[in-house]
Amino acid sequence: MTEQTAQKVNLLGMGLPALEAFFVDRLGEKKFRAIQVLKWIHQHGVDNFDDMTDISKATRAKLHECAEIVAPEVTYQKDSKDGTRKWVMKMPGGSAIETVFIPEDDRGTLCVSSQIGCALDCSFCSTGKQGFNRDLSTAEIIGQVWIAVRSFDQPGEKRQRRVTNVVMMGMGEPLLNFDNVVEAMGLMMEDNAYGLSKRRVTLSTSGVVPAIYELAKVTDVALALSLHAPNDALRNTLVPVNRKYNIESVLDACNHYMSRFSEKRVVTIEYTLMNEVNDKPELAHELVEVLRNTPCKINLIPFNPFPNSGYERPSNNRMHKFRDILTAAGYNVTIRKTRGDDIDAACGQLVGEVTDKTRRSDRFIEAVQLGQTAAELAGARFQRNVL
Ligand code: SAH
Ligand code: SF4
Repeated sequence: MTEQTAQKVNLLGMGLPALEAFFVDRLGEKKFRAIQVLKWIHQHGVDNFDDMTDISKATRAKLHECAEIVAPEVTYQKDSKDGTRKWVMKMPGGSAIETVFIPEDDRGTLCVSSQIGCALDCSFCSTGKQGFNRDLSTAEIIGQVWIAVRSFDQPGEKRQRRVTNVVMMGMGEPLLNFDNVVEAMGLMMEDNAYGLSKRRVTLSTSGVVPAIYELAKVTDVALALSLHAPNDALRNTLVPVNRKYNIESVLDACNHYMSRFSEKRVVTIEYTLMNEVNDKPELAHELVEVLRNTPCKINLIPFNPFPNSGYERPSNNRMHKFRDILTAAGYNVTIRKTRGDDIDAACGQLVGEVTDKTRRSDRFIEAVQLGQTAAELAGARFQRNVL
C-alpha cells in the first residue's frame, strides 16, 4: 500500500449520512452527490470514479485524490451442485473470511460474516474453534454483499437481483462488532444502496444481552437467537456466553426487541440438533415450556460435522420426532435444509483462515486456573467495546 492510498477514504463502507458529510465537509460539494455516488457503488457495482458518468470531471478528479472504493480481495469462488455459491475473501494480515449465497425457489439468501473468527467458543462451531482475530470494518461487511451482487450481474445489463435476503450468520458474533454491523445493515436497507426491507435482513446472535437492548434503540432488522438448549445447565456447555447471560435474560431481551413493533413480528429461535446431546424428546417438551412467552418461530438446524468436532448429526427420525413435539404444541417449526455441504459452505462449517490473536487456549488454561470461565472473558470484552 502506498502512502497516498493509506490516507484515502474508502467510500464502500460509508452510509448515506457519512457520505453526505464527506461531500459537503471534505470536498465542498453539494449534498446530493452522495446519493449519486451511493447508487453507482452499490446499485451499479462501480469501483472506478471514471465510470460515474453523471459526476463532473472536476469532482471525479477530487475523488481520485482523496477517496477509493475497495472491497475485500476474493481468493476463491466456488459453486455447489445445488447452486450454493461460496467466496473466500482474503483479509490484510493473512486471515480469510467466508461468505455464502443460498438460492431457493422464492428467494436468494446471502450469509455474511461479521468478524474474523469468533471469541465466543461455542462447542459445536468450527468458526469458534478457530479463535478470534479482529472485527471486520463496515466496508469489509458490506463489501461481501457488493461482491456477491456483482458476481451475478454482467456490466451494462439489467441487474439480476438474486440477493433478496441477508443473514448475519457467517463467521463471528455480529453484536460484538456492533457499530460496524449496524452501519452495514443500514446500507443493506438503504433505498439508494441495496433497498432490502427490514424483514429481509436478519441478525443472528448467540445472546449478548446488553447489546440486544442497544440494538433495539438503533434498528428494526429481524432477530434470530441461537438457543440450542432449553435449560441453562445444558446451554452453558454448548454456548459459553450463557454463563454470563442466561436463557431467561436473553429471552427477556428478545421480547423487548420485538415489543417495539406494532405489527406482528417474531424472533427466530435457532436450535442446532446434535445427536444424543440436545435432541432428546424430553428436551423438546422443555423447550415448549421455555418458549411459552416468546412469540417465535423455530428453525432446527441439523448439526453440520467438521473434523474432531465430537458431535454427530441425529438421524432424520430423531429430528422429526423433536420437530413433531414442538409442532404439536402449536409452534411454527422448520428443519433447515443442509445446503452447499459439498463445498463446506453449510452453517458452522465456515472456517476461513483465522490467525488467532486471543491465544484462547493459553488464556483459557490461565482463566480456569484463576477460576474464571470463557464466558466471563467474553463478557468483559463486550463491556469494554460496546457499553
Ligand atoms: N454468532 C452468531 C451468528 C453466526 S453462527 C450466532 O451464533 O448466532 C450462525 C448459526 O450457525 C448459529 O445459529 C450457530 O449456532 C449455527 N452453527 C454453528 N456451528 C454449527 C454447526 N456445526 N452445525 C450447524 N449449525 C451451526
Ligand atoms: Fe461464535 Fe456464533 Fe460460532 Fe458461537 S456459533 S462460536 S457465537 S460464530
